[in-house]
Amino acid sequence: MKVWLNGKLVNKSQANVNVMDHGLLYGDGVFEGIRVYNGRIFRAEAHLDRLYESAKFIRLAIPYSKQELHEALKETVAANNNAYAYIRLVISRGEGTLGLSPFQCGNPNVFVIYDNIQLYPKEMYEEGMAVIIAKTVRISRRMLNPKVKSLNYLNNILAKIEAIDAGVSEALMLNECGELSEATGDNVFIVKNSHAVTPPLDAGILGGITRGVVCDLCRKMGIELSERAIKPKEIKQADECFLTGTAAEVIPVTKVDDITIGDGKVGPVTAKLIAAYREMVDTDIAE
Ligand code: PMP
Repeated sequence: MKVWLNGKLVNKSQANVNVMDHGLLYGDGVFEGIRVYNGRIFRAEAHLDRLYESAKFIRLAIPYSKQELHEALKETVAANNNAYAYIRLVISRGEGTLGLSPFQCGNPNVFVIYDNIQLYPKEMYEEGMAVIIAKTVRISRRMLNPKVKSLNYLNNILAKIEAIDAGVSEALMLNECGELSEATGDNVFIVKNSHAVTPPLDAGILGGITRGVVCDLCRKMGIELSERAIKPKEIKQADECFLTGTAAEVIPVTKVDDITIGDGKVGPVTAKLIAAYREMVDTDIAE
C-alpha cells in the first residue's frame, strides 16, 4: 500500500510521523474519510470543503490548496491498484513542544492512507443492526463543535465502548438537551408514517456527506423529509431507523436498547434508500 505523505508517495512501512506531532499528543488535527467507487473519488469536493472548514475552525492552515489536495487524492488512487477503497486524508498539527500551543508547531503533516474498510457484515444490511442509546452525551456545540471533524474522537469512542460492552455494534448519542444527535461515526434518520426525519445541524452533529446525499435522494424519490429535533422516545416508536456514513453507507437499525423498531425487519423506506444509494455511488460521475 502506498501512502501519500507531505507530497510524496511512500510505502506504508515508511509512512511515519514524529512522536512530537500534536496530532498524536493532543488529537490536534482534522481529517476526512472518503470512498473510492469504481476508481472514482466519491464527492471529493464536498469532503475537501468540509476539511477546510474544520481546519479553519481550529486555526490550522493547510499547506496545500484544495486543488493540490484533490490531486494528491487522485495520485494516491492511481498508485494503489484497487478500484473500491476507503481513503483517509489527515492533517495533523505537526511537530511541536510538549506545551499545548499549536502555534509553536512546525508544518502540519498531511497524509493520505488508502485502504479497505468493511465496517459491518453483509447480513446486517439485510437484517438490520441493534444499537443502544449511550449514556455518554455528545459533546456540546459550545465545547468542540461536532461539525468539526477533528482527530479528537474520544467522546465518540467512549460511546462506542458502551455499545461494545452492551454487545451491539453502535451507539446513538443524545446532545446536552437530551435530544438525538448522531451515532458514534454515522448520522441517524428515523421514519414514521413514511416520513423521514433527521436531526438538524444545530443538534450538534457532523454535517455528514452521506446524510446530504441521502437527503437529496429523499427529495428526488418523493420521500417526505424533515430536519428537526428528535426525542429518544420517538426513536423507539419509529417505524424505521437507519444510519448514514461514508464507510457504513446506509445501514438499517432494527433494535434500540432491546426495543424492536417497527416489525423488526428492514423497512420499505430504508430498503429503497439503500438500493438507491448503492446504484448512485457506482454510477455517479462527479469527483
Ligand atoms: N458523524 C460522525 C461523528 C462521523 O464520524 C461521521 C463519519 N464517519 C459521520 C457522522 C458521517 O459523515 P459522512 O457521511 O461524511 O461520512
